[in-house]
Amino acid sequence: MKKIISLALTALVAASVFTGCAKKNNEFYEEKNLNLMDTVVDLRASGTKATQAVKEAMKRLEEIDVMASPNNEKGDVWKINQGAGRDYVKVNPDTIKMIQMAVKYSKMSNGAFDITVSPLINLWGIGTDKARVPSDQEIKEKLSLVGYDKISIKEADNSVKLEKEGMAIDLGGIAKGFAADEVMKIFKKYNIENALIDLGGSSIYASGKNKTQSPWSIGIQHPRLDRSEGLLGIVKISDEALSTSGDYERFFIKDNKRYHHILNPATGYPADNGVMSDTIVIKGNVADANMQADILTTTVFVLGADKGMKFIESLPGIECAVTTTDNKLYSSSGFKKRLTDLHKDFTEVQ
Ligand code: ADP
Ligand code: MG
Repeated sequence: MKKIISLALTALVAASVFTGCAKKNNEFYEEKNLNLMDTVVDLRASGTKATQAVKEAMKRLEEIDVMASPNNEKGDVWKINQGAGRDYVKVNPDTIKMIQMAVKYSKMSNGAFDITVSPLINLWGIGTDKARVPSDQEIKEKLSLVGYDKISIKEADNSVKLEKEGMAIDLGGIAKGFAADEVMKIFKKYNIENALIDLGGSSIYASGKNKTQSPWSIGIQHPRLDRSEGLLGIVKISDEALSTSGDYERFFIKDNKRYHHILNPATGYPADNGVMSDTIVIKGNVADANMQADILTTTVFVLGADKGMKFIESLPGIECAVTTTDNKLYSSSGFKKRLTDLHKDFTEVQ
């Protein structure tokens, strides 16, 4: 519930924008919210074909939700996981695309991003009513099932096999980004110029401008405050993808320690290097911008502020900011320029 309220507020910050378009061109403005992909999706579009565009986009999101859900028997992820250690499983080319992109970033990040962490995600159960701190022995056992090098793909017939029995994949760190890219394609097809694609605040794409012909303003979540209490800051984006990952999304606290949903595939524990949240911005003309932004926020979170920032600096055209538990904000030069209203809790690292 808290999440839903906070999402509604995310939208509000960005929304001031849209009212402009809506008033000017009221009959062509369309907004829809839907519970999908474990979050609240908010799509807004203005243009003569906005209604059709949003309808088609929601249908596409429903398809992706099934495809990427680890719990839906009709979906590719479920089928791949069922066949682990046994069969190649024929899947949708979209699923192959996500897995290939995931593996690419696993290699680039030395395994910080790894969709085969799924057995550990299930063991911890973070975000479910079965969440608990597992024993070291349990973690060790599951760690033996983790390894992106044990995913085999036969591209020619769109099939995938996980080499070890008990292995499983989880596309939670990539599917929302992929989905935002797909919505963007649909909006382009319908010539939507001004739009907001908000997949639960964690994957956002804003296209066009606001009523004053300025870029959209997106409120970035303060990692330790509710949205009603304040934001980390405001970032302006235009035809760009923005993704945020944080240790506040799904977590529990035990003995004063926060256990959250982003796992370090090397240790089997939630990443514990002082990062509270990170945000990535990528230009919309970069292929798969939202999917890359989604992957990279999780990756930087696992790498930590120093290594993470260096990693991002090695990738052209990508901007990043990281908040740490000592209340510092690290940001790339491009990000600094666009961030305003930084919350007083944080000090920028120069
Ligand atoms: P959100 O779902 O809020 O956008 P992220 O994009 O950071 O959060 O993705 C976190 C999700 O990614 C987790 O819930 C889990 O499904 C998956 N995940 C956790 N750790 C890793 C990791 N090291 N590599 C790849 N995926 C991960
Ligand atoms: Mg994400």
